[in-house]
Amino acid sequence: MKAEFPIIVPIHLGKSTVFAVRERGGAMLIDAGIPGRADKIIGALRKNGIPPEDIKLVVITHVHYDHVGSLAAYVKAFPCAVAVHEKEASLLKEGTSVLPAGTSAVGRMMMGLLNAIAKMAPWTIQFMAVDADVMINRETFLHAYGISGRVLPTPGHTAGSLSVILENGATFVGDLAVNFYPWGGPIFPPVADDVPQLMKSWQALLAQPVKTIYPAHGRPFPVARLRRAYEKRTKV
Ligand SMILES: [Zn+2]
Ligand SMILES: [Zn+2]
Repeated sequence: MKAEFPIIVPIHLGKSTVFAVRERGGAMLIDAGIPGRADKIIGALRKNGIPPEDIKLVVITHVHYDHVGSLAAYVKAFPCAVAVHEKEASLLKEGTSVLPAGTSAVGRMMMGLLNAIAKMAPWTIQFMAVDADVMINRETFLHAYGISGRVLPTPGHTAGSLSVILENGATFVGDLAVNFYPWGGPIFPPVADDVPQLMKSWQALLAQPVKTIYPAHGRPFPVARLRRAYEKRTKV
């Protein structure tokens, strides 16, 4: 049987999920998880028939420590291009992240707690610094890396948040939406820097040929659910 491309491999790293995408012409990673998990990423790639040497690009959806924690160790083991939004490249270079604001009572409580912890123990939001190779500030096609897809800036969770849209409609959104609640919803992220901007990014994604949303926290879900949540929140 011939393999169907793209092959999407979710690599669950406890707090967040890294995705590997393999196409006929190349392979990429989306995000690099919490610190200390590079070996787990490499092991998962091999187990799924993707030699880490084939990964030509890592796209960072945004510079929060749970998305870039193992990036330095990974690219040291298997050098490849690192793409990040130009607005967050300096955070990546400094090895630090800024905690976003809560969008709900629970989110605000969670962030209040994390901010207090980060004040006492700054290393909880720090990670090993990385110099990015590709600065994104607009829609960017990935064909040069053998990937039939593109990166689209989708700010809101952070100013430099990116989504990756594959030609088959699979879309990786980082923390622009979540799906980790056991009872199934909501998908609105509990934390975000700019809620009106986030809604604009949802709208922008809904105008694209998107089929399945892959959040970094929780299970993939059909785009219809994003549309319903968008309509509910924007209903006057
Ligand atoms: Zn985040
Ligand atoms: Zn996250």
